[in-house]
Amino acid sequence: MKKLRIGVAFFYHESHSFAPGKTTLKNFQEEGWFKGKEIFRAYSGTKTEVGGFLDTLDAREDIEAVPLLCAAAVPSGMVEYETYTHIESEMIASIMEAGRLDGLLLALHGAMAVEGVDDPEAVLLKKIRTLLPHVPIAGTLDMHANLSSDMTDLTPYHFGFKTYPHIDMYDQGVNAARALLGHVQEDRRWEAAFIKIPMMPPSLNMRTSEGPMHELITLAGEWEGREGILNISIFGGFPYSDVSVAGASIIAIAKTKKQAREAVKACADRFWELKEDFLVDIPKAAEGVKLAFSKSGRKPVVLADISDNPLSCGSGDTTELLRELIRMNKPGTLFGGLTDPESIEICRQKGSGNRAVLQLGGKHAPEFGSPIEAEAEILNLSDGVFYNSGPFNQNLRVDVKGAAYIRVGHVDILLIGRPMSANDPEMFRHIGIEPADYKVLGLKVKNHFRAAFDPLIEEVIYVDAPGVASNDLSIFPYRRIPEEMWPFKKIEFPITP
Ligand SMILES: [Zn+2]
Repeated sequence: MKKLRIGVAFFYHESHSFAPGKTTLKNFQEEGWFKGKEIFRAYSGTKTEVGGFLDTLDAREDIEAVPLLCAAAVPSGMVEYETYTHIESEMIASIMEAGRLDGLLLALHGAMAVEGVDDPEAVLLKKIRTLLPHVPIAGTLDMHANLSSDMTDLTPYHFGFKTYPHIDMYDQGVNAARALLGHVQEDRRWEAAFIKIPMMPPSLNMRTSEGPMHELITLAGEWEGREGILNISIFGGFPYSDVSVAGASIIAIAKTKKQAREAVKACADRFWELKEDFLVDIPKAAEGVKLAFSKSGRKPVVLADISDNPLSCGSGDTTELLRELIRMNKPGTLFGGLTDPESIEICRQKGSGNRAVLQLGGKHAPEFGSPIEAEAEILNLSDGVFYNSGPFNQNLRVDVKGAAYIRVGHVDILLIGRPMSANDPEMFRHIGIEPADYKVLGLKVKNHFRAAFDPLIEEVIYVDAPGVASNDLSIFPYRRIPEEMWPFKKIEFPITP
């Protein structure tokens, strides 16, 4: 039996236009760079989009998964032009060398910003489309994608995450793969309608368990329950992208264009009506710390250092919240993970059980706070490798390039070798720290951590410390986003998808 051959590829970056430093090829090669069969080893069994692609393809005897290229880097500054063109040409080469392809599954983030390339995902997809003019392509996108009509014109099959924390990456991978196989094997064709909404809501209050995004996803789900509608994706956009395609958007996939348009319009109208609900005020670090210690619940209170969340492109080494916690010096305090490879190296040289004077954090983004000089007790050291317990990115191997568990006064601190959000308790447990045993947890996180931490904690206090991922978008000097954009401008929004 001749098997259908489906290509699998992944190119993932969320780029912050105002973060210091550029994202280079080394970042991709060190973080997530897999070619050919290496992709099976890295992603089979993981709850990721590619894990969803592979499981769906493997379940069919008449399908052969053809692994191409996977390139992913942790969210950070803009991608260098040469880095983008190198990965793009490797991707194109992998497709050309793959031989016959009957379909392609492509996982993208959708909020990559590249020097000199305005809508890189659309540029990439267009090049692939030129190479494979008649081959169906289906893909996944992050809820924070800046999706454009150039993308949706090239294929209708875009499946955005419907959860934040993003715990349905795998499910959307499965949905994309099923839509693709339906097209390839059963000639089931779908149409898409797309609308760009002139708004850039901050992502802090975009969780799907409550609030305005919960309402929107519920509304989309009601439409998906109707005959003829396959899928609706609501995109909040990535508000730290200074690109012409920035902003929220919605795509509906349906049997007819008319049905897709109706669904998109209904969801877009509601998104616009709810926009003010995405704006929330949060306390400064000192105020947040006082508030956290005034609580008397049985479980820990989390102080979320959102402005330096590494998965929102933070350097992971800003010091304001940690400084406040050390000033309070209360037993039962844990902070982490603070990016500080230099201090980890000093701890390694001194050895576990000894003491060291350290300059904590403040090295990569000193504009947001200087290092904290402190004498620390070195409690444990590790290579920094662990596997996420999930549900967010479950079973994915994480390498934070070394870790040190230290104590300054009464404050326990986890140092890590490179920026990584504390989204999974394994980051702490792998080195002998049980976060549930503390009273106050200062974490470098935004929202994804809640998937794993919510059962362990009493409540979350989001704090406004200085950092690139601030909730206050008015601090960023945007130049390329459309002039008509809420919340910067009060505008009317005529909806005509
Ligand atoms: Zn996201």
